[in-house]
Amino acid sequence: MLHWIYPGLCELCHEPCEQELCEDCIAKLPALPLPICLYCGSPVAGDQHDPTHCAQCAAAPRYYDFARSAYLTNEATRHLVHAIKYHHANYLAGVMGELLNRLWEDTPQLMQPGRYCLVPVPCTQAHLFARGYNQAGEIARALARLRGLPVCHALKRIPTEADSQTRLSAGERRRNAMRAYTARPSYASGRRKLPGEDVVLVDDVYTTGSTAHACARQLRKLPGVRRVGMLTLLRAAHGQRDIV
Ligand SMILES: [Zn+2]
Ligand SMILES: [Zn+2]
Repeated sequence: MLHWIYPGLCELCHEPCEQELCEDCIAKLPALPLPICLYCGSPVAGDQHDPTHCAQCAAAPRYYDFARSAYLTNEATRHLVHAIKYHHANYLAGVMGELLNRLWEDTPQLMQPGRYCLVPVPCTQAHLFARGYNQAGEIARALARLRGLPVCHALKRIPTEADSQTRLSAGERRRNAMRAYTARPSYASGRRKLPGEDVVLVDDVYTTGSTAHACARQLRKLPGVRRVGMLTLLRAAHGQRDIV
């Protein structure tokens, strides 16, 4: 009722609309160009030797089964992620969950029957303290509501010395990520169990895939895990690092 009297404004065009983003602005968000690598979900050149496997996945297998992102980064999508990440705009989590729900329905691996559960990529305690929430957790919660799935905070983010450096090479990022994520002790010890064997990691941005790789490695150690996938709102284009 209140919403009807005082409709919200679209975060991007500032026109009145029923959710945080209007459908016109959603339609203008930059979709990923096809084809994409079947594993990491990055756009690949259609004429390359193996169009189902990008060069990085062919060179180094990933711990996750697949990763998919809804959009590329541009000014609009960067604005959205900056807003939820740095400007306390956690009201955007609802529409972000809705966008991930659309991505879910476009992802054949997720349309297979299974017992799914969502695991948000964790942030450090310092980030949690500074922002008051973990944006990945908020987005996962919104997606979980739409799909009727459980959210499980099974992972923990350990601060590392590299956290203070914003510019890391892909190799440094990978090594740092491997040290930065672990299963929470209650899950690692088997005291608590994941409520599903098909685990979907949720995050805001997929940059080099190091986070997905490191988190999936930890999840695979837990009993009963069959598949690990990842959904993110954004995908940084190749070579774009630290842009959000
Ligand atoms: Zn709009
Ligand atoms: Zn790939």
